[in-house]
Formats: sequence, C-alpha cells, structure tokens
Amino acid sequence: MKTVTERTTTTVVKDVRICCDVCGKGGHDRYDSEVSWFTESCYDVARTTIMAAVGEQYPEFGTRKVKSAHICNKCMDEKVWPFLESIMKTPPTEEEIDV
Ligand SMILES: [Zn+2]
Repeated sequence: MKTVTERTTTTVVKDVRICCDVCGKGGHDRYDSEVSWFTESCYDVARTTIMAAVGEQYPEFGTRKVKSAHICNKCMDEKVWPFLESIMKTPPTEEEIDV
C-alpha cells in the first residue's frame, strides 16, 4: 500500500510576558487573576488585578463574561485609584495583612 504523508506545523500562541495596559511596564507570573509586577527589590510585592466576571450560574453549569485589565501598581496608584476615589461615595478598603 502506498501512503502519502503530509507535514504540518502548529503555531501555539501563549502569553510569555504581560505588560501594563496603561504604561507598557512588564510584569510576569500570573497568580490566578493577579499579575505580579517587577519591583526594585526581590522582597517587594506588587500584585494587581482588575476584573469583572458577570453571568449566570445554574446547578449544572454556568457562564460568565470576564472583563479584565492589566494595570501595574504604579499606574494603579497614580491613575486608577485617584479616578475611582473621585467617583466613590466611600473610600476604598485598605488594610495591611500578614502573609
Ligand atoms: Zn503601568
């Protein structure tokens, strides 16, 4: 029996680096929906997340429309928080936690 072979290649696209949607600063590993941003010291932690998941949940299944933005901690402090605080009726919750 004569066979005909065909060689194919597959391109896999995956996120290898996440950048801030505002300033373009690079981030790295995701922790669930959080992005960990590069910091001055290896002991500093800068994780941010902006996400909304809205949809339906039934006992058997659910669907959600997820909208998210990757915004670094500097842009959060300089642009996002001032804007949010300008439209919020109460100040955002701020706490220091031990991990
Ligand atoms: Zn930024």
